[in-house]
Amino acid sequence: MAEKKYCPKCLSTGDPEAEFCTACGEKLVPLMRIVIMPFVVSGPEREIWEEYRELVERDGEIRPDLAVGCQLYMQSGMEKVRLMVSQKEHYLAQAERTLPLLVKSYLDPMLFYDVPDPVEVFRVAEEAVEMPTELFVIIQNQYDPEYLFLPEIDFFFFRYPRLHTSGTDADSGFGYVQLSAFLLDNRENRIVSRGSGAGLEYFEAAGAVLDENFSIPTQDQLEVMYRAASQAVERMLRNMKMIK
Ligand SMILES: [Zn+2]
Repeated sequence: MAEKKYCPKCLSTGDPEAEFCTACGEKLVPLMRIVIMPFVVSGPEREIWEEYRELVERDGEIRPDLAVGCQLYMQSGMEKVRLMVSQKEHYLAQAERTLPLLVKSYLDPMLFYDVPDPVEVFRVAEEAVEMPTELFVIIQNQYDPEYLFLPEIDFFFFRYPRLHTSGTDADSGFGYVQLSAFLLDNRENRIVSRGSGAGLEYFEAAGAVLDENFSIPTQDQLEVMYRAASQAVERMLRNMKMIK
């Protein structure tokens, strides 16, 4: 594939053969290719729930006894309070599909990265399922990228019981996405940048049709998660720091 070129001055793209920008005369440079690698799932099976404490307390008090069945909830009546997860696979699968697309949609407008469609990258990565150590080789052969972008993710939907928010109808749940990522220079085989970011979006009960268990419809949850993930991606990419 002929390398596309872009103009670092006016950010227009140029013909692969051209040497100079037709708009402003600046010397054109090749697009850098970044492949967004499939996710490494870092949670939520963690012993420590302290870092989520502020997310599940109200008025300075944690009330796990009030948190009834939800996608990620606190269970009481045990020696140690702990986070319980249901539908974890469902949420992580959504995260895998959604977040690389969000990263791509953020990088594409910058014009100087050529990011392959993450859906296509996943298809290629699936070829390596039986031999995970070959994944880098396969990605390298397929895309020949200058950089690999490796995100990690924690991806939760919390719900407060209706009892807890009665009268307010405002925030009976929320989505929380924590991301971190490394940028690997594929030529030098070293990490050149890293960053992290979080997004939190409230679910507004008003307008949603809840069933007798006050379950929040999956589609509504996914929309909340998508907005939280967008925030997290934007913050993370803005906070990426170079590593010497
Ligand atoms: Zn130009």
